Amino acid sequence: MKKSRSQETDLSRFGRLAEYNRRRRFGVTPEPAGKVGRAQKAELEFVVQKHRASRLHYDFRLEHDGVMLSWAVPKGPSLDPSIRRFAMQTEDHPIDYNQFEGVIPEGEYGAGTVMIWDRGTWEPEVEDVDRALAKGDLKFTLHGKKLRGSWVLVRMRERQWLLIKHRDKIASTVDITAAKPRSVVSRRTLAGIARSAGASPRQLAQAQEADASSAGPDR
Ligand code: MN
Repeated sequence: MKKSRSQETDLSRFGRLAEYNRRRRFGVTPEPAGKVGRAQKAELEFVVQKHRASRLHYDFRLEHDGVMLSWAVPKGPSLDPSIRRFAMQTEDHPIDYNQFEGVIPEGEYGAGTVMIWDRGTWEPEVEDVDRALAKGDLKFTLHGKKLRGSWVLVRMRERQWLLIKHRDKIASTVDITAAKPRSVVSRRTLAGIARSAGASPRQLAQAQEADASSAGPDR
């Protein structure tokens, strides 16, 4: 029997999360299984998850085509246009992942504490996002609690990008990761999340250490 066009589209889109699914055991990790997302909504989501895995980093994710395009930013975003933050592109994540705040168990992929550090909506500043990604130059606007205004992701080489704030009235020399270290949804620290989500003693100690390294006024 001939497949309908929509079935074919769904199957090809499911493939975008194959790597995400392959890396995870959903009977063990509390992370959501990868399913390609909702049909077109008016607004596109973005999320930044602060993640104390083998090292602290910030996972920057933009919704596109039913999945979250993802980059790991070791130092986190900067509001200062003169600072370029290295951003390693990682596997696409499901849109459901935007709700995930908790602990990935020891021994699992990405083991450690995850915080929803910022979230909101985003708008491309280009007509064609796929073409911008292929070119390696994606300009966009963020509407988050901590991150706003105009930004750009520029690819240097395969999977290696820079995340840079554009000059606008939101640009600032305030160190946003230090000034606003807590969860945007629960106001918890990494240690607070680790404690309530069943982290191992080692994971709790690592969460506390990461909190101390990004301590700031909103604690
Ligand atoms: Mn991560």
